[in-house]
Parts: sequence; C-alpha cells; structure tokens
Amino acid sequence: MANEDCLFCRIVAMEFPADIVFEDDQVIAFRDINPKAPVHILLIPRDHITSAASLTEANGPMLGRMFAVAAQLARDEGIARSGFRLTTNSGAGAGQSVPHLHFHLMGGRQMGWPPG
Ligand code: 5GP
Ligand code: ZN
Repeated sequence: MANEDCLFCRIVAMEFPADIVFEDDQVIAFRDINPKAPVHILLIPRDHITSAASLTEANGPMLGRMFAVAAQLARDEGIARSGFRLTTNSGAGAGQSVPHLHFHLMGGRQMGWPPG
C-alpha cells in the first residue's frame, strides 16, 4: 500500500526521480543520493513497510528476493569479492531517517566494525 507522504513510495511511483539500478514486481534498488561508500545502493520493497520492526514471516518471499537482488548487485558492482555491508536501520535510535524499509548495500572501501 503506497503512502503519499513517503519519499520512497514516491520514488516507487516514479513521482520523484532516482538513479534506479534494478526493479521488478517486488523490489526497487537505486543509488543513495548522499553515498557513504564508493558503492551505496538502497534496496526497498515496492510496498510500504515502515521498518524492519514491522516485518513478519509473511514478508519472507519479498525478503528472499531482496537478498538475492543485493547479492546480484554486489557482483555487478564488483564488491562481492572485496566485501560489502548489507544493513538496515530500524527506528530513530538506529539512525533511520526515511520510514520506508530499506537495506543499504555498501562497499568499495574498508568498513569499520562496530558501526557507530
Ligand atoms: P537511513 O538513514 O534511513 O538508514 O537511510 C536513508 C538513506 O536515504 C540515506 O542514506 C539518505 O542519503 C538516502 N536518501 C534520502 N533522501 C533521498 C533521495 O531523495 N534520494 C535518494 N536516492 N536517496 C535518499
Ligand atoms: Zn513508503
């Protein structure tokens, strides 16, 4: 269900531009507008899900697709061998700034651990 006040729903609806690198019936991936690594792609479900805190087992097929797409994009972007981070921030305390579930696919530089 689209949320007209949601930035990422507007990208899904093509009402707001994005550098889209992949899309299918469930998942869209586009480059982060403010990249924090040489490769920084956001993967989102087409359907509005606020965060990982709302996920249930019923979201399994979509999440399976999401992770398969992330792995394919990591290979396409040349970061599968060197290493990449695939992460989601859930809630303000974790730094989530856009309340539509998204996974950050980041790579192309050495990643620190633990994240801040
Ligand atoms: P969060 O902070 O919620 O984990 O991640 C949100 C991400 O969305 C940030 O990395 C931010 O740079 C990115 N972002 C915010 N607005 C836009 C936008 O309009 N277009 C794109 N492509 N990315 C955006
Ligand atoms: Zn949304």
